[in-house]
Amino acid sequence: RLAKKEQGNFRVYEASLNPFKLRHLELYRDLKKAVAEGELQLYYQPQINLETGKAVSCEALMRWTHPDEGFISPGEFIPLAEKTGLITELSRWALKEAIDQCARWQLAGHSVGVSVNLSCHCLTESDMIDRIVELLNSSGLEARQLTVEVTESLFMEQSEQVIDALTRLRETGVLVSIDDFGTGYSSLSYLKKLPVDELKIDQSFIFPMAKSKKDRMIVHAIVELGTSLGFEVIAEGVEDGATGKILKEIGVHKVQGFHYARPMPFDDFCFWIAADQLDGAKQSNGK
Ligand code: C2E
Ligand code: MG
Ligand code: MG
Ligand code: MG
Repeated sequence: RLAKKEQGNFRVYEASLNPFKLRHLELYRDLKKAVAEGELQLYYQPQINLETGKAVSCEALMRWTHPDEGFISPGEFIPLAEKTGLITELSRWALKEAIDQCARWQLAGHSVGVSVNLSCHCLTESDMIDRIVELLNSSGLEARQLTVEVTESLFMEQSEQVIDALTRLRETGVLVSIDDFGTGYSSLSYLKKLPVDELKIDQSFIFPMAKSKKDRMIVHAIVELGTSLGFEVIAEGVEDGATGKILKEIGVHKVQGFHYARPMPFDDFCFWIAADQLDGAKQSNGK
């Protein structure tokens, strides 16, 4: 009887399937197993202090190697994970991995922090902050070495709850960064009450900067505003030296982008920061 009922439901459901949804169903089924199957990996992209020319931190970016399809972009599987609730498991995994790996390169003598992207749903989960504190304690990583990146759109949704969570997070010593800054709608009104440490200017302003005066002016205004409110300001998506030079003149503190380095697996990243720290003089001239 039950089987029949299920079959009936299935037929109804199948009638409404389109190829797009089918792909999502299949990806969802596979993504559910990805953590357990060890198919996820974090890549690390250096964040460079423009004053010293050296990496001071990095962003952890998730990579999924699907058993049949190979590499699948986070631009595709992260939104799917957010819609289906899988993001909680993925984020727990990413936090543990990033904290443990950062603790490892710190132990090897590299004072380089790590930024982890956190989606809205995860941030407001009741045990998320306790979990982070526990991970920091068990790894021995200092709270200051961890930054949590949250996107601007998050604040428009559930502001009181989010502000609460961020406030508690910052009380533990963890830093908070607003990712993709400038792409939301209420950028200015919420800035004064936000418990954050850093603004991360969105790539869409950085890509055209070297050729577009308007984008330069927008970036300049963000830097002035951010700095006078006491925030660190970082630019992402820096693809060429000319843009890096302008950003330095404008007073941006940190940069991240293909011009400096692409996201790399853990081993390559450890190698990269070791070379970066040895190679101080060359780095600061080149950047
Ligand atoms: P995001 O946090 O804004 O990350 C920046 C993206 O820009 C990354 O793409 C990075 O590889 C890319 N990028 C860095 N420098 C350059 C550059 O110079 N030029 C260009 N064209 N791109 C550059 P990626 O790794 O594909 O990640 C895309 C988005 O997926 C991220 O945007 C973030 O929103 C999300 N994501 C990635 N990993 C995680 C994660 O662990 N958790 C969550 N919740 N979201 C994640
Ligand atoms: Mg980010
Ligand atoms: Mg971003
Ligand atoms: Mg983004």
